[in-house]
Amino acid sequence: ARTFFVGGNFKMNPGSREQKQALVKLLNEAQLDPNTEVVIAPPSLYLLPLKETIRKEIQVSAQNCYFKESGAFTGEISPTQLADAGIPYVILGHSERRTLFHETSAVVAQKTVAALAAGLRVVLCVGETLKERETGETDKVVQEQLEAVVKQIKESDWSKIVIAYEPVWAIGTGKVATSAQAQETQAAVRAYLTKAVSQGVADATRIIYGGSVTAANCKELATQPDVDGFLVGGASLKPEFVDIVNAKN
Ligand code: 13P
Repeated sequence: ARTFFVGGNFKMNPGSREQKQALVKLLNEAQLDPNTEVVIAPPSLYLLPLKETIRKEIQVSAQNCYFKESGAFTGEISPTQLADAGIPYVILGHSERRTLFHETSAVVAQKTVAALAAGLRVVLCVGETLKERETGETDKVVQEQLEAVVKQIKESDWSKIVIAYEPVWAIGTGKVATSAQAQETQAAVRAYLTKAVSQGVADATRIIYGGSVTAANCKELATQPDVDGFLVGGASLKPEFVDIVNAKN
C-alpha cells in the first residue's frame, strides 16, 4: 500500500516570525496520524531553523532549487546545498514557478535530474489550466509535463518521486476539483506511468492532489483510490492543516 502523503506548501508565507512560531507550536502539539508522511515546505530562509524546531515526524522540503551544483547563479539554491544541509525534499514544477518564473517542462526535468542526483526526494507538480480542461486537453497536458521527466530518469528513480496533480484553476481559488475530477485525472496519470515506465512504478508511486484543499473537502477526496495525499497551500498555514493530515482517520 502507498503511504498517504500530506505536504504543506507555505509559498512566500508566513509573513512574520510570530506567525511562524504559532504554526510550529500548533504542529508540534497536534495529534498527527502516524501512518501519514508529513512534509512542510517553508521559504528557503526558514528551512534550517524549522528543521531544528519542528517535531521529527515532520520533514521539511524546499520549494524550488536550481539544476547546477554551484556557481554564478544569483538568487538560486543548489540541490547539493539542500542535501548537504540535511533537507530531504524539494518541490519542483509548481505552477507558480512554471507561470510566474517561466519554467518550462524541460527545465523542470533538468532540475528533477539534478535533485535526484544530489539524493533529494522530489514532489513533482503537474496540472492543466482552466482553458486546457475546457478544451479536453487535461490528460495530454499532464502527460507531456510528466514525459519531460520520464525521458530523463531511470525506473529506480521513481521511488524518490511524489507526483502532485495540481489543476492550475484550483490553486488558491477556493475552487477545488471534485473528487471525481481528481480521481479521473490521477487514474490517467497512473495509467500513463504503467505505459511509459512500468506497472511496478505505477503501483508504487504516490499521486497526490493539490488545489484549494481544506479540512472540509479533504475527507471525500481521500476516499478516491488514486488520491494518495495532498499538497496544501493556504490551509497549510492554519490549524485545519492538522485535519488534512488526518484525512484518512
Ligand atoms: P492552495 O491550497 O492555496 O489552493 O494551493 C495549492 C498549492 O499550490 C499547493 O502547492
